[in-house]
Amino acid sequence: MADHPHDHEHPHDHDHADHDHSHDHQEDDQELEREARRLIALSRVRQYGDTVLRMKAREVETFDDDLERLVERMTSLMHEASGVGLAATQVGVLRRLFVFTEDGEDRVIVNPVITTSSKDTEIDEEGCLSLRSVLVPVERPTKVTIEGVDTKGEPVKLELEPPASRVVQHEVDHLLGILYPMRMRDFSRFGYTDILFPGSPDE
Ligand SMILES: [Zn+2]
Repeated sequence: MADHPHDHEHPHDHDHADHDHSHDHQEDDQELEREARRLIALSRVRQYGDTVLRMKAREVETFDDDLERLVERMTSLMHEASGVGLAATQVGVLRRLFVFTEDGEDRVIVNPVITTSSKDTEIDEEGCLSLRSVLVPVERPTKVTIEGVDTKGEPVKLELEPPASRVVQHEVDHLLGILYPMRMRDFSRFGYTDILFPGSPDE
């Protein structure tokens, strides 16, 4: 996203009452704090180029407190990083689970399997906490049914529509070691080649 220096300027009207000023500063501080927390959270997410992101995660077999703690950690990391989904692979844990938000609800799916995909597809821009600046259009089935279990091992089955249907397909890809640029039909049209192919001699 382009950074507009003028957005950071707050022309203060000196006729305003003092409490208005302190209120503005408070909001600025909160904004800065959120941004700082987001950057710290992002630094805890494995980034593109990390080989872990290309590895296949294994089934979860033990449903214990460690799993609960991992899910709590991933959920808060996802929120702090302003994300809508986070796979275990992205925090360096090669286990088949991910967290995501659906209509403002936090959800977790352990050992997820997409059991049905709609024939109709949709192309939409996708981003990723592991590929911060890269937004690319990816075609995916519009609706999916996903099944798995929760942290207690109880069955979960969700029939999802956009945007959640796209999020879960993206996260299942992570668990297979697939990053969404690999789903693109033609890289050359969308740029980002310097990020996606660092050190490649030609475009
Ligand atoms: Zn991602």
